[in-house]
Amino acid sequence: MKNTSAVKNKSGVSLSLLLLGLVLALLVLSIVLFGCNKPSPTLIETYYEIDLSYDGGNVVELAETVVYQNNTNTPLTSIAFRLYPNAFKEGASASPFVGDALNQYNSAGKFGGIEVLSVKINRLNLDFVICGTDNTVLEVPFDLQCGDTAVVDIECVITLPHDNHRLGKNQSAINLTGFYPVLCTLGENGWRKDDYHHFGDPFVHDTASYSVSISHPAEYVVAGSGQKTEVPSKDDSSKQTSFYIEHIRDFALVLSKDFKLASASAKIGQGVNVDYYYTEDSSPDTTIALAVDALEEFSKAFGDYPHPSYTLVCTDFVAGGMEYGALSLVGRPDLDAIVHETAHQWWCGIVGSDQISAPWMDEGLAEFSSAYYHRLKGDETGYNKRLRVARTEYAKWSKLSSVGFDGVMNKPIYNFLTEGEYVAVTYRKGAVLFDTLLQIMGEDAFLSALRDYVAENTFAMASQKDLIDAFEGRHAGISNVISSFVEGKDK
Ligand SMILES: [Zn+2]
Repeated sequence: MKNTSAVKNKSGVSLSLLLLGLVLALLVLSIVLFGCNKPSPTLIETYYEIDLSYDGGNVVELAETVVYQNNTNTPLTSIAFRLYPNAFKEGASASPFVGDALNQYNSAGKFGGIEVLSVKINRLNLDFVICGTDNTVLEVPFDLQCGDTAVVDIECVITLPHDNHRLGKNQSAINLTGFYPVLCTLGENGWRKDDYHHFGDPFVHDTASYSVSISHPAEYVVAGSGQKTEVPSKDDSSKQTSFYIEHIRDFALVLSKDFKLASASAKIGQGVNVDYYYTEDSSPDTTIALAVDALEEFSKAFGDYPHPSYTLVCTDFVAGGMEYGALSLVGRPDLDAIVHETAHQWWCGIVGSDQISAPWMDEGLAEFSSAYYHRLKGDETGYNKRLRVARTEYAKWSKLSSVGFDGVMNKPIYNFLTEGEYVAVTYRKGAVLFDTLLQIMGEDAFLSALRDYVAENTFAMASQKDLIDAFEGRHAGISNVISSFVEGKDK
């Protein structure tokens, strides 16, 4: 069954109509302000309207409309999207699974994938190319001049793998992340087509707004990024759940028949609604209170959390946790995992960075922040304990130079020898780096630098230089300390 009903926003106006109006207004604006083929500033953020249909089986049908403006200085000859579900295909060479994990997590031996059925741009059916490692890229040849806008319609069928990874169906839930065709990010050499990887977060995405609607059997409860509305069908056997959110880098959903929900409000700005979905938790009130508290403390320290909602989902998950737009997944209600993933709302979410080429930027800050949360709460012992663990774990790995360990933070995820080294260098050494800056600069200057970094890079993609400059701006000479850590000369 394919759902074709229009998603409504809060005012009840059809978003499809809004979309058409927006595109027309943009065309007029671009002609009035910039003339033809001239570069323009960002007038609109990329917008996704996604309709999903799930009948309880192994397949999800998807119809997606993407409004994309070429806000670069270069005319484009194609528009490209990532097809991450194809990394979950049998025999994928850049798979999320490696070794025993392949058997362990792909429990029923069922692999996933995504098939693109049709692509239209500005209502014209177009030929498209499926390319990239493991066919994880959809590229549509299309000339898009600077400042021009394309409305792309894509129809797909997603096959759910059976696993507890980022995308997969398992005994308790369906993890639906990285499931939809998402625009590639433009790099120096055009659309980036980076390989998936079995560790690290092999994703780099610009912010976008999302209106997502899924029709599903009524017994499922759906957790997702953004403000949620539920509409039962006439026969009560199915339901439609919709979400709307702006300025996020990746939209996530998790479905479960067993979800329980705890809700609370965080005192940030006009108030932030916090929802916690879980299947097993002996003290859900404590867990949601922690999420609320972390969100409030980090807002005071780094700058306000910008979304009206935050969703924490405890699901069957291969790792401790994973960050998404206004949503965090955790494998169990673990304090450090919840605080770490919540910190990612700032380090990766609000301030984007290249998680593939410079993973130390977001992981180092998230790991530091999860220790720093305890200092913010007046628990110096809790802070010191976590920094001690980080130093010890990093020290263990730094003794392994004979097998190629170099302590260099500034390298892509693919260049780390093992996941252990990756964690030691980006998380643990990253936390030690930011603690070192705190000790040298003092708390006021250190926090001012982090606030500068957030304020100057909100919803943008920060470079390593942007991060270093924020600290140098508050403490002349500190960039040498950062460089020595990042280049691995700090021993
Ligand atoms: Zn992390």
